[in-house]
Amino acid sequence: MPRTLLPGAEPPVVVPVHNLGAGGNTPPFWLPPPRGLGWRHAMFNAFFLGNGYRASMLGEIRAWVDSGAFLFLEAPQRRLAGLHGSGAGSRARGLPRGWSEDLVEEVLRRQERFGADVAFTLDYPLPPGSQVDPGCCPGEVAERIRLTARAAALAYQLRSRRGMRLLVVLQYNGVEALRRLLELLDRELREHAGTGLDGVDGYAVGGLVPHSAKWWLLAQRLQEARRLLGWDTWIHLLGVAGPRNTALLYTAGADSMDSKTYIIAAAKRLYYQPSGAKPARISLRETSPAQKPPCRCPGCTRHETLQEMRRDTQSIALHNLSITLEAAREAREACRDGRLYELLKSQAKENPRIRKALRYVTEPRPCRD
Ligand SMILES: [Zn+2]
Repeated sequence: MPRTLLPGAEPPVVVPVHNLGAGGNTPPFWLPPPRGLGWRHAMFNAFFLGNGYRASMLGEIRAWVDSGAFLFLEAPQRRLAGLHGSGAGSRARGLPRGWSEDLVEEVLRRQERFGADVAFTLDYPLPPGSQVDPGCCPGEVAERIRLTARAAALAYQLRSRRGMRLLVVLQYNGVEALRRLLELLDRELREHAGTGLDGVDGYAVGGLVPHSAKWWLLAQRLQEARRLLGWDTWIHLLGVAGPRNTALLYTAGADSMDSKTYIIAAAKRLYYQPSGAKPARISLRETSPAQKPPCRCPGCTRHETLQEMRRDTQSIALHNLSITLEAAREAREACRDGRLYELLKSQAKENPRIRKALRYVTEPRPCRD
C-alpha cells in the first residue's frame, strides 16, 4: 500500500474539479460546498486563482491545485500581465514560448498563497501525437521532458510551505522516456534542492487528456509508472477519470484521480446511472414526464421528477458527483475485501474498453499484504 499523502485520504481518492466560480468551465455554485455527499477533496487550477480566493473558503474540503500548465503554456495570449514580458526572454535563451523560471515560481506562489493541501509542479505537456506514435518528434519530446524535470526540481528548491504536498507531474510516452525523466529529476533535485527522488512527496501522470477515451493507454502509462516507482509512492492521474473507469485506473496504479466529467455531463443534461446499469448516462431531455429520480442523493431528493430536475444543472451535477464518489467507494471496498480484480473482470464483461485495457494490466494493484 502507498504511503498516505494526506491524513484520511484513502485510495482511490477522487478529486472533483471545481474552481468554485474562480474561472474555467465550472459555475460558481457550491460555496460553501454541499454536505452529506462525502465530498472531501476538490481540484483547482492555479491559472484561475489570481486574487481573493483562499482554500479556507472551502471549510473542510482539501484543496488540490493543478499548475495550469496547459493554459499558461498553450494559450500565451491569456497569460497574465507581468508574465507577458518573459516570453521574449525565454525565446532568447532558446526555451519554448511561455516557459520561464519566473512562471514556475509564480505558479508555486499561487498554490502556496491559496493554501493548497496538494499542489502539482508545472509540467511541459508532450505533443499529443507522441503518446501513440513512439517515433514522433524525438527532439521535442526530449526537450519537454528536460523542462518538466527542471521545473519540478525548481519548485522543490523554492517551496516555502513544508506542509503542502508537492506532486511531481510526469510527462513520458513509454518506459524509457520515464526512466530518462526520473534520472534527470534525480540529478536536478540533488544539484538544486538538496534532495533526491526519495525526497519527492509523490507523482502525477500527465499529458493524457487528449487520449482520455483510450483507457488502454491510461492503464499502460500507469503500469509503466508503477514498474519504475513501485507501489509505495503516491501516484495521481491527471484529468481523465470518470465513474466507469475508476476501478480500472485504481487497479492499474492510480491512488488518486481528478474528474470533471460530472459537471460537463450536467451542463448537457446527462444523468449518470449507478455502477453496472446500462447505458452509463441517460439524457434527461428524453425521460417521461412522471419518471421519478431513482436515487436518494442530495441532488435527486430536491425534485419530484426527472423532467423537473432537468432544469436544475446544479442538482444534476450533484447527483453525477455522488455517482462518481460512489464508484471510488466501491473500488476501495473491493480492494479491502480482496476482490478488486473480480470487480474489474465483471465490469469488463459489459464494457469493451475495460476489456481491452485489462490486457495492459500485467501487475495489478496489490490490495492485501
Ligand atoms: Zn441522485
